[in-house]
Formats: sequence, structure tokens, C-alpha cells
Amino acid sequence: MPVTQKDDSPWWADGLPFTCQQSGKCCHARGDYAWVYVGWPERERLAQALQITPEEFTQKYTITDAQGARILRFVDGHCIFLEDAACQVHDHKPVQCRTWPFWEELLESPETYEAEVRNFCPGSRSGKRISADEIRRQMKETEEARQ
Ligand code: SF4
Repeated sequence: MPVTQKDDSPWWADGLPFTCQQSGKCCHARGDYAWVYVGWPERERLAQALQITPEEFTQKYTITDAQGARILRFVDGHCIFLEDAACQVHDHKPVQCRTWPFWEELLESPETYEAEVRNFCPGSRSGKRISADEIRRQMKETEEARQ
């Protein structure tokens, strides 16, 4: 009897369309999502871009979450760096912002992706097709940045 191979390809194996429309929507708090992790290397990098010390950056722009991780402050329901619908640190933005929406928890199932991404992010409904390999690379980069 032939052995049936289990297909463990992810539902996004053919890639997903995404081109950022710079709507700024992912920079706003949505329910449980109101954090952008900024570990020490990211804080050093952002501090350098803003020409301040990492300590000053940490004090001015971050808070500690319930698990003790450093996250960017949110002000009036949006990231402290969002001004006039534009990211003020665009060229230096945190990994998590660059890799949106290819985060493990958002790609868990088509339903989750629909609810948490496609429903409100205009860039996820059309645009350039991002390959599965690139999605995997971005998921990995996101996880590593959170450690
Ligand atoms: S750092 Fe920039 S891209 Fe990231 S959430 Fe804040 S405003 Fe948005």
C-alpha cells in the first residue's frame, strides 16, 4: 500500500499580494495590537538615526510591556512616530514595521489573516506577489527581532 505523504505546505504557499500603500493604518492600535517591539539593537539604531543616546531613546519613546519587553509608546491611539499619517522614522523603522503583515500569528490561518490584515490593510488586497520564501524570511526576521 503506498504511503500517503502529508501535505504540510502553508496556506500561503503560492505567496501573497502585498504593496504598502502608506495608509498608516498598521501604526494605529487595534484591540490587542498596540505594540512595536524594540530590542536593544533596534533602540541603538533608532537612537543613532535621531542623534540621541540609546538611553534617551528608551526613556522618551518606549515603555515596558507586561512581560518586560521594550515597546514603542503609543499616543492618542497611534505610534509615537506617526505624524500626519507618515512614519517619522521611515528609513530606520523597526523590523516589525518593515515585515508587516508577515508575522507568524497573522499567517496562522486564512481566517486570521482575513480578519487581522485584509479587513483593514489596503496594501494586502492587491499589489506585488510576495513569494513564500520571502514570507518565511520575513517571519524569521520578525521572530528574531522579538527575542
Ligand atoms: S515606527 Fe513608524 S512604521 Fe512603525 S508603527 Fe511607528 S509610525 Fe508606524
